[in-house]
Amino acid sequence: MRFWLALLLVVLPVPAAALQVRVVPAAPRQGDTVLVFVAGASGAQNVEGSLGAQHLAFFPYGTEFAALAGVDLETKPGKVPWRIGLVDRDGVPRKAAGSVTVKPGGFPVERLTLPGGMVNLDPEAERRAANEAARMRALYDTVTPERLWRGPFTQPVASRKPGGGFGSRRIINGQPRMPHSGIDYSADRGTPVVASNRGRVALLGEFFFAGRLVALDHGLGLYTLYFHLDGVAVTEGQMVERGETVGTVGTTGRSTGPHLHFGAQLGRARINPPDLYALPLRD
Ligand SMILES: [Zn+2]
Repeated sequence: MRFWLALLLVVLPVPAAALQVRVVPAAPRQGDTVLVFVAGASGAQNVEGSLGAQHLAFFPYGTEFAALAGVDLETKPGKVPWRIGLVDRDGVPRKAAGSVTVKPGGFPVERLTLPGGMVNLDPEAERRAANEAARMRALYDTVTPERLWRGPFTQPVASRKPGGGFGSRRIINGQPRMPHSGIDYSADRGTPVVASNRGRVALLGEFFFAGRLVALDHGLGLYTLYFHLDGVAVTEGQMVERGETVGTVGTTGRSTGPHLHFGAQLGRARINPPDLYALPLRD
């Protein structure tokens, strides 16, 4: 009897273990970085997926797969679907799907009334700013297929006080302006600005709003941005390590005093950069 039972176990096809997908945090706020882990798919190929409209670029993580996703700071609160697809090691396609519920970021709103001449750009500046914004979008749409970053991200400048201002929005003369998409660190002009993590210098520029800027490509759609720089210490295409100087603090572009505006993008999603300092990943 025992023999037959054992035989039965051997001849029955072993059902593939269910895909286990963890989305951390399960209820992200606007501007949050989300980690998606896929377990039970060791040896799988072509692991891919999406969160809302965002493509998920997975990398092997121990016996699992992981991907970083961004919840853009203006994502409408509510349900955002995700789906995962892969081909397991036996060549069988597998799928999983679910959703996360995005909560409001609770960003401050400031209402100001100012003379029109102070807030409206002249047509030439308007055109220039629009062209520069399009260049940045084209950059964020460029996904380097390998992960260049390793380990924790670091604050890119020593500042007198904690950085702030992410997501804050001004409504000037009744017109909502673009929300502030990075974090501002107050520091003296000339203070070194370092790469938050390993990456490739993807863009150097002199932009109307951002001033002198460095954009680093960390791979898999993740970019960090360093704005209003006084000096730049890198060249386009160069690889930099975490902590390597990329430039110095300045007040170039639209800026009222020396500070570093530090931004982070996952594809087109504008995320709160300090989330990257505390990623729950061992690497
Ligand atoms: Zn700023």
